[in-house]
Amino acid sequence: MTTLHRPAAPTAYGSARLLAGATHGVRADLAAHRAVHGAQQHRTRATLVEETGAVRLLGRGGAAFPVSTKLAGMPTGSSVEVVVNGSESEPASRKDRTLMTLVPHLVVDGALVVARALRTRRVTIAVHDTAAHASLTLALEERRGSEPHPERVSVRLQPARFVSGEVRAVLRGLDGRPAVPPGHRVLPTRHGLGGAPTFASNVETFAQIAVLVSLGARRYAEVGDRAEPGTTLVTLLGDVPAPGVAEVPTGLPLDALLPAAGGPVLVGGYHGHWVADARGLRVTRPSLREAGVPLNAGVVARLPESGCALAEVAAVAGWLARQSAGQCGPCLFGTAAVARDVSTLLYGRPAPDVSARLHGLVRRGACAHPDGTAAFVASALTTMTAELDAHVDRGGCGRPYLAVLPLDDGVR
Ligand code: SF4
Repeated sequence: MTTLHRPAAPTAYGSARLLAGATHGVRADLAAHRAVHGAQQHRTRATLVEETGAVRLLGRGGAAFPVSTKLAGMPTGSSVEVVVNGSESEPASRKDRTLMTLVPHLVVDGALVVARALRTRRVTIAVHDTAAHASLTLALEERRGSEPHPERVSVRLQPARFVSGEVRAVLRGLDGRPAVPPGHRVLPTRHGLGGAPTFASNVETFAQIAVLVSLGARRYAEVGDRAEPGTTLVTLLGDVPAPGVAEVPTGLPLDALLPAAGGPVLVGGYHGHWVADARGLRVTRPSLREAGVPLNAGVVARLPESGCALAEVAAVAGWLARQSAGQCGPCLFGTAAVARDVSTLLYGRPAPDVSARLHGLVRRGACAHPDGTAAFVASALTTMTAELDAHVDRGGCGRPYLAVLPLDDGVR
């Protein structure tokens, strides 16, 4: 018998859609899923392009690329691959494994909609979390008797390393090669899994497609912000009223998820940006990108005032340096040098070269890791000026390192 690990019960701000029926932390089996979302539906590619475009659906990984544009640019036919990227390798994020564990049929429905629209039967779901793997495997077993489908859906475990979650690293891993980004930029839609054109996107993207097809574009757009209707998932951690995964209507003021006062706020996870004050920010990908703090995979953390914020930054910077795949020099040496600079500051000594080193990381790698690392550290240094002054002037702030930002993703 399959034993399923239950993630912490997610929270819904307003009505849950993605997590409807699962906000108590109980997995929705096929019958429960069908009771909420109805029978599996399908769309032609043209209709799916139209509907995803009508609701301005953006990919829910890091890049927030318009789904309709990606779908419209895909060839169709039996050689096309559909890949669900469930390699949620950011330690702070829990949203995708929550979807895969609690509502796996929603993810499978979305993948089947895309496969049918692209007229292919090839669907691969890549995961690195064993609980998510077990839940998805069980979901396919549940369908075998009552809802057989012609698509060949496989669920495959992949390495848990941070840079292994990048989509091209996932595709390489699925091809049996080292699961690190290739040393050059390639488009999966042209040259993806096994060299075939591949529609690859994040788990939440496929779940959103399933909800969209179930509700129709008009009802889907009844909640949320006009620029990006619907709901989205975030993972909240640190000094917040309800830590864990939350489903929120887009457009919600970000400070509605945070306490009235506290330490600096990290938006977008370990490739994200720090802000001192979240007032004026709203949870939509377009508005956050415009504000210079992209939501990325949806991690929002607020540090408690009782802890040392610079120590949190130093710990993550060191961890990010250790995640480099080691194939691009500026990434391998540059991220390590930046991490050393942050430690130097933490121990009360100036690091005069840190700005130049951060600048040297920008657009210098074959993937987004150096840029993401630079964004995380540079925004910390401009946001935490009082902390920095305390460390450099007095040798420290006197507050302890609380390890609010996890460095181990807890994969079993
Ligand atoms: S930039 Fe870093 S993580 Fe990305 S491919 Fe190059 S070495 Fe690997």
